[in-house]
Parts: sequence; structure tokens; C-alpha cells
Amino acid sequence: MSRIAFVGLGNMGLPMATNLVRTGHVVTGLDLSGDALARLVEAGGRAGGSLGEVVAEAEVVVTMLPEGRHVESVYGEENGVLTHAASGCLLIDCSTIHVESARKVAGLAAARGFDMVDAPVSGGVGGAAAGTLTFMVGGSDVAFGRARPILETMGKTIVHTGGAGSGQAAKICNNMILGISMVAVSEAFALAEKLGLDAQKLYDVASKSSGQCWSLTSYCPVPGPVPTSPANRGYQPGFAAAMMLKDLKLAQDVASLAGQATPLGAEAAQLYRLFVDAGNAGVDFSGIVRFLKGA
Ligand code: NAD
Repeated sequence: MSRIAFVGLGNMGLPMATNLVRTGHVVTGLDLSGDALARLVEAGGRAGGSLGEVVAEAEVVVTMLPEGRHVESVYGEENGVLTHAASGCLLIDCSTIHVESARKVAGLAAARGFDMVDAPVSGGVGGAAAGTLTFMVGGSDVAFGRARPILETMGKTIVHTGGAGSGQAAKICNNMILGISMVAVSEAFALAEKLGLDAQKLYDVASKSSGQCWSLTSYCPVPGPVPTSPANRGYQPGFAAAMMLKDLKLAQDVASLAGQATPLGAEAAQLYRLFVDAGNAGVDFSGIVRFLKGA
């Protein structure tokens, strides 16, 4: 079992850190929120003092932070992880960030001799709590081999996607599919309503036909057909629209740098921008169905 420093105990990080505690790791947490730290302590973890102290004692550092700027500052700043980590410490960043940001931090880590992976996740808060996340892991074979047993305590599917940054590439490609497909499914339910077609009937047909997809059968945007979907609890997230917008913007940014046209990705990003700007940042991303219906 390892001494793990876990930085970022938010919606995702806290349940992930809790699963590490449950499997016997000694987990010391850090967060800007005292509440988050208290909840880790309740779950059997420890509350850390300063980043430098916590990281210096760790064999593994896991970060789960909102955006690239947080990751770059936590790792790269004068008092950051790369300054204080002990030689041989394994670095795992699970945040969803820009591919270039991930490569930059991985480059700095490699220059100091650390094994590091970018390991963003899919599966949401439910998957984090259940320990069934999918990890997309970018980094060397050696770094992946070291990270794998740690990731297995938090997830069910662990895929080595290639070199540094490739985990982030996989994540934003996946989430671009998700954003586009949620808009597609929502448009279909909006049209069905106008045509007098019952939502459950559309579900019964499309879930067994060529329109079948995760946004329909696991996360149906209208109440009724899939009891666990956020549509049945007033579109409380789940996965907030602001997070979806962030991921679609990351995808657009990378697509433009790579010179790849992604017209539907661009359209989905634009729709989520309008949805978020209309006061829906904290609403589950499947709530876009109400927006498309003109509510
Ligand atoms: P969150 O905002 O709930 O948690 C982030 C935590 O990081 C907060 O508790 C915050 O206080 C802490 N933090 C910020 N800066 C810090 C610093 N300098 N030092 C220590 N702690 C700091 O976000 P989340 O929902 O847990 O998401 C985290 C990452 O996971 C994001 O990149 C997100 O895109 C990704 N993600 C989220 C979901 C989801 O369903 N929420 C799913 C997949 C991936």
C-alpha cells in the first residue's frame, strides 16, 4: 500500500480518494475547502497542511483539479509538486485539461526525472463513488505500469492511450461525441412532442433501433424512460452544463490547432454556450432538451 497525496477533493476527487482509503492506502488530502478535507477525514483519510509537506512524504501524487491553469500551478509553481516531490514519486493527473497543458506539465515532470501520466476519467460522480470509472491514460509504458494498480482501485476500465497528452485527447474526443449526441437525442424528443408522439414510445423504438446511444439509453434527457437519469430529478447534475461547455471548448481549441474541421462539435459548443449563458451553468447538461424546446 502506498502513501498518496490527493489534491482536489471536489465532486469527483473526494469519492476517488475515499476508494483509495478503502483499499488500504494512506491518503493525505489537500483542498481549498475545509469542508472537503473534513469529509476525507470522516472517510478515514488525513487532512494535509501545506502542499510542500504533503507531497514530500508521498510515494504517489494524484490531482483532480478543475482546469489546466490549476494543474499547471499546482505542479509547476515554485512551491509546487515538482519542487517538493521525493525522487521516484509517481504523478497522476486525473483532471480534464487541454492536451497542450497536459504535455507541458508532463515535459516539466520528465525533465525532473518523474514518471507522470495524464489520466482523465469518464463515468461521472456515480462512477467515482462506485469505483467504476474509465481511465484514459497517457504516458510511458513504465509510468502506465506503475499507475495501473492505483487506478484500478478507482476504476473498472483502464486504457493506455499512448504518450503524454493522449489521455486528454481521448477524453475530449469522447466528450465531443457525448455533447453532440445529447443535442441529437434532445432534438428528437423535442420534435416528437411537436408531432404528438409520446416520449416513452420514441424511447421504446429508438433504444432498440439505429438511434440507440448512451445519451438515450443511460442518460435519457426527458423524465420517465430511464429512472436514474437527471431528467427525473429536475436536471440536478450529474454532469453540469458548464463542464460540458468546458470540454467542448477544449475540443474546438485542439481541433483548430490540429487543423481538423469538427462542424457538429462547433455547433454543440455554440448551443451549450447559449444554454450556459441563459443561466444554466449548474444545470445538468441533459437539461438542454428544455432549452431546445424553447423553455
Ligand atoms: P470540483 O470543482 O467539484 O472540484 C475541484 C476541487 O479542486 C475543488 O474542491 C477545489 O476546491 C479544489 N481546488 C482547486 N484549486 C486547488 C488548489 N490549488 N489546491 C487544492 N485544491 C484545489 O470539480 P469536479 O467535478 O470534481 O471535477 C474535477 C475534474 O474532473 C475537472 O477537470 C472535470 O472536468 C473532471 N470531470 C468531472 C466530472 C463530473 O461529472 N463532475 C466527470 C469527469 C471528469
